[in-house]
Order: sequence, then structure tokens, then C-alpha cells
Amino acid sequence: MKLIFATGNKGKLAEARNILGPGFEITSPAEIGITEDIPETGSTLRENSLIKAEYIWKRTGLDCFADDTGLEVDALNGEPGIYTARYAGQGCGFDANITKLLRKLEGIPEPRKARFRCVVTLILNGEIHFFEGNMPGVIALEKAGDRGFGYDPVFIADAFPGRTLAEIPEELKDSISHRGQSLRAMADYLNLPSCSSIPR
Ligand code: IMP
Repeated sequence: MKLIFATGNKGKLAEARNILGPGFEITSPAEIGITEDIPETGSTLRENSLIKAEYIWKRTGLDCFADDTGLEVDALNGEPGIYTARYAGQGCGFDANITKLLRKLEGIPEPRKARFRCVVTLILNGEIHFFEGNMPGVIALEKAGDRGFGYDPVFIADAFPGRTLAEIPEELKDSISHRGQSLRAMADYLNLPSCSSIPR
């Protein structure tokens, strides 16, 4: 099945292709000449996910999906939440976001409980469908590992204690992640097989 994934994030794109597997042909907006940033003006993950999917659907009229992900840290009252991508400021990279997060958590004892929440919006034949995923874990004291993207070097999933997401193989992350859960739910809805739900 052909779907456009409304993202400019290469890490997300690679994960989605791995998770959804060969039953899907996933194209990015950049690959069809849409390169502008889609403004995320919503106040919830669901709104921002819908904004991104609708933007691509209005531009192309083609079946598509988007995800919006937030990291919620209990000791920070759910921050960064919808500001996860731009926590250290618009245009700042992953390192700056992690530095800000670790600074705000200085002095807060472990376990610094947190979770990634993800809302996927699928637009299929003009109809909107939502799918959600949630990965609980803790924020590490310092960065470790060089796989993945975003906050992976400081997030330790409850399912794989002792190692950050950046230290475990991609297939393990995909098997438990917020994005894995929501994309597999989408594949189930579409009645198509997906990958990455591997036994631990
Ligand atoms: P958005 O969903 O594009 O608004 O971006 C959310 C931000 O959350 C990304 O820029 C990453 O920094 C972060 N993020 C999303 N998914 C993951 C993940 O699987 N691991 C680590 N960080 C992530």
C-alpha cells in the first residue's frame, strides 16, 4: 500500500519503513518535492498530528499519515510535551534539547519517570483515523549510545532497563516504542502485516 508519511525527520522515516515493512511503500514529502516546514500550531499531540496529515492531504489528495510525539517527564509536570521538538528553541538540534532537559532535571533523584506518547493520524480516502502509542521509561543521568535520534541517548525504556534507546538495536526499540505501537495499530486497521513485534 502506498502512503506518504508527513515528516521531514529522517529518523522517524527510517523507523516507520522498518516497522511497517514490505507491505507498505512509504514516501516522504521531500521525495515528492514538498520541502517546507509544516507549522505545528495545535495545543495537543492529536491536533498537531492532524495538522501535518491534513497539510499533505490538501497538497496531494493522496493517502497519507503523520505522527506527533511528545516526551512527558513527571518531575517537570509533563514537560516538554508538545514542545518536545523545540524544547531549547525553534531550530535548535537534538543535543541542545537534551542539554536543556538534563539541566532542568539536575538534583532530581532517580527514577526520573517519563514516557513518550505518539499520535498517528491516517487520512485514507479523505477519512481521518487516529492511532496512539505510549512507551514508559526514565530519563538517564547522562547521555549514552549513538543509535536512533532525538532524546534516545537519555531515555531508558522500562522494557529494557539499564540501557538507553540509543544503546539497543533498532529492532528492539521498534518492538516496544510509541511509534511502533501506533504504526502497528494503523497496519492492523488496514489489515496489512507489519514488522518489529519481535519476542523479547
Ligand atoms: P514531532 O513529533 O515531529 O513534533 O517531534 C517530536 C520530537 O520528539 C522529535 O523532534 C524528537 O526530538 C523527539 N522524538 C520523537 N520520537 C522520538 C523517539 O523515538 N526517540 C527520541 N526522541 C523522539
